[in-house]
Amino acid sequence: MISFRQANELVINALKKLTPGTELVSILDAQGRTIAEDVTSDVDLPSFNNSAMDGFAIRFDQSIRSWIVKGEIQAGNFTNSGNYSSSGSLDNLSAVSIMTGSRLPDGFDTVIPIEDAFVREDNLILNTNARLVKGMNVSKKGQDVLKGETVLRKGTFLKAPQIAALAACGKSQVRVFERLKIGVLVTGDELIRIEQTPSGDKIRASNLYSILSAIKEMGMIALNFGIARDNRSEIKAAMAFALEKCDVLVTTGGVSVGKYDFVKDISGELGIETVFHKINIKPGKPVLFGVKRDNGRLQPVFGLPGNPVSSLVTFYLLVKANMLKCFGLDELTSVKAILRGDIVKTDSKRHFIRGFLERDENGNVSASPVGLESSGNLVQMSVSNCLIVIEEERINPLSGEEVECIMI
Ligand code: AMP
Ligand code: MG
Repeated sequence: MISFRQANELVINALKKLTPGTELVSILDAQGRTIAEDVTSDVDLPSFNNSAMDGFAIRFDQSIRSWIVKGEIQAGNFTNSGNYSSSGSLDNLSAVSIMTGSRLPDGFDTVIPIEDAFVREDNLILNTNARLVKGMNVSKKGQDVLKGETVLRKGTFLKAPQIAALAACGKSQVRVFERLKIGVLVTGDELIRIEQTPSGDKIRASNLYSILSAIKEMGMIALNFGIARDNRSEIKAAMAFALEKCDVLVTTGGVSVGKYDFVKDISGELGIETVFHKINIKPGKPVLFGVKRDNGRLQPVFGLPGNPVSSLVTFYLLVKANMLKCFGLDELTSVKAILRGDIVKTDSKRHFIRGFLERDENGNVSASPVGLESSGNLVQMSVSNCLIVIEEERINPLSGEEVECIMI
């Protein structure tokens, strides 16, 4: 059986071979996407020397401590307040009242903050203990980026700060990678639609929804292929149909060693090569991973176990974490915490225990296990916010020990 680390390497190798297309989207639709082009600025940023403070603009001169105020400049109204760029009327003894973001008159290089000086009649006088340094409180033309310089690189994930950079560069439209289409098919004779009330030995197909929503959390397109019975021809037809429509297929159920676990055999019949089956982890050991190759195209297929906790945990760890890595998206966050509560773990598997991570008023971060009693309890999972990692070689970790937690 392969290790968690080996499984991830194999998944990453396959995911890297996916080649999503690109599309042009409006800047507001670009949030949460990965940019597919390098973006250069069409202007210098800032585009002009400007004041970082409300105060007084001057031409720095070591020997001068008082000036004559010759007017004011408001942000965006440089020329309206008098043509200061014709510096004839301004000399070393002149100061101009200036607002944050306003353009400095040509030749002016320094801004005295409003609280460091006072005005008496038309004279500006520097406070005795105020600091005066050439160039202070001035943002210089091109200091952030020069026209033609690269602002964002292809492969960058776009959130509000990157959207701000695009906006400042005038990119109202931007080329991003197409979102992958990830299909979900759940299998099991016991499964009914969630609109139905279970009777007898039927259960609602909750996995369909946990996995579809986890796909949406990644910003990818989730395709719902519904429920297939534990019947070879039904599963085969449903998987073949789904493979026609999606880039990546995720199934749940039917991958263990039970008499009605058909997914592995059927994958083979559909030309899906098994990359691995079973990983040394808990929960989620029976995971099946395969690839279907067609004319140079490669489709990863994840056969996750049916247990509602196992399917979501393995989706997060194997599918989501690796997709985020491969497609420039925000990766899953890992946090070190102090374990609160003992855990019984005697085998050599890597365990992922549902946990609740919190920070107390002193800043100490602790993680309490939830749902230790039943690995299938999805209600307990719904109150967890992390997976506590207990490494292969680690036995019976005790309360107070340090653990790594993956935020989910
Ligand atoms: P399996 O992996 O098919 O052996 O299923 C393992 C367990 O998960 C069984 O108890 C199933 O009833 C349950 N299960 C399978 N599929 C789903 C699903 N879509 N939603 C909720 N539970 C499921
Ligand atoms: Mg089953």
